Amino acid sequence: MNKPSIYGLTLDQMTAWLGERGHKKFRATQVWEWLYRKRVTAFSDMTDVHPECVELLADHYTILTLEEHTKQESLDGTVKFLFKLVDGNLIETVLMRHKFGLSVCVTTQVGCNIGCSFCASGLLKKSRDLSAAEIVEQVMQVQLHLDQRGKDERVSHLVVMGIGEPFDNYENMSDFIRVIKDHKGLAIGPRHITVSTSGLANKIVEFADSDLGVNLAISLHAPNDEIRTRIMKINKAIPIQKLMAAIDYYLEKTNRRITLEYILLKDVNDQREHALELAELVGDRRNLANVNLIPYNPVDEHSQYQRSSKESITAFYDTLKKQGISCSVRLEHGTDIDAACGQLRSKQIKKAQ
Ligand code: SAH
Ligand code: SF4
Repeated sequence: MNKPSIYGLTLDQMTAWLGERGHKKFRATQVWEWLYRKRVTAFSDMTDVHPECVELLADHYTILTLEEHTKQESLDGTVKFLFKLVDGNLIETVLMRHKFGLSVCVTTQVGCNIGCSFCASGLLKKSRDLSAAEIVEQVMQVQLHLDQRGKDERVSHLVVMGIGEPFDNYENMSDFIRVIKDHKGLAIGPRHITVSTSGLANKIVEFADSDLGVNLAISLHAPNDEIRTRIMKINKAIPIQKLMAAIDYYLEKTNRRITLEYILLKDVNDQREHALELAELVGDRRNLANVNLIPYNPVDEHSQYQRSSKESITAFYDTLKKQGISCSVRLEHGTDIDAACGQLRSKQIKKAQ
């Protein structure tokens, strides 16, 4: 059987695991620093760790498990990685360059069961959840790629917006966040980490009650149930009112700002009346909510949708602003390299078939 990657353990879990086997607490911290600060990829390189401890780790764990299948580099510096998992499944990870730093977008599941009608990821049903280790390793692989370039660049931001619904893989997603933000490791600040969900209300409540303390984005995408159900079938099970109740609980509990994501689909949800209805829906939450307008990335299989024109996007933005809603338009990255979520993966899979 394949050994699991050690990247899946939080520092507490590693400390407990080594402790149960007779190793003192500082050993875990030592190993942790080798993994995330010095970023070695073999246990044998952990030169100041006691040989017995190195042997124990190597007997039970491995470090790297992902194989780089394809890497596409865009003119704007975006790098899209396609990784092969040990079972042969392919997943995507994206590195984006912003003015404020370098961010990585990670995948949480192989495929997605939510099946939103505009999304390339939902074209393929979920075949399994990723382990916490497989999610952490995506960030580590990108960081190792940067290390190799030798420009002393660090991943500073993280978005959980790749393939999959993170709240449908809640425990692994939580462990992943604990590893990535640990101040003795990569130490990505919680305010620099954003998890996006299609709106699993009970998990939003659990997230609000948790100690994770990272940002939340909600894929709202429509101002009313009629449109939302049409484009996101999850809205049948969790309609907007139920979603809003969970959001209100989150806002009340955390007092943190939330992002409401809104894909603009030509003539479907991008008209002035939709902007006005959206402003009304956001209502009193406006002090703690930012609407992020996302230009639709065309997906071959979803030809029923077209991207809104630049003018419509600007008009929608202006209408929201006039209603006192804070909003922004998402900048696009790597449009020359199959940038839409899940697109590179689905193209490669089609090619292989
Ligand atoms: N499953 C989660 C996170 C992954 S999707 C979620 O749905 O929130 C991340 C974001 O990309 C979501 O807001 C999603 O709606 C959006 N997205 C999906 N397909 C897209 C497309 N073709 N063009 C633009 N954005 C898309
Ligand atoms: Fe899944 Fe998110 Fe795509 Fe919907 S938008 S199918 S929830 S990945």
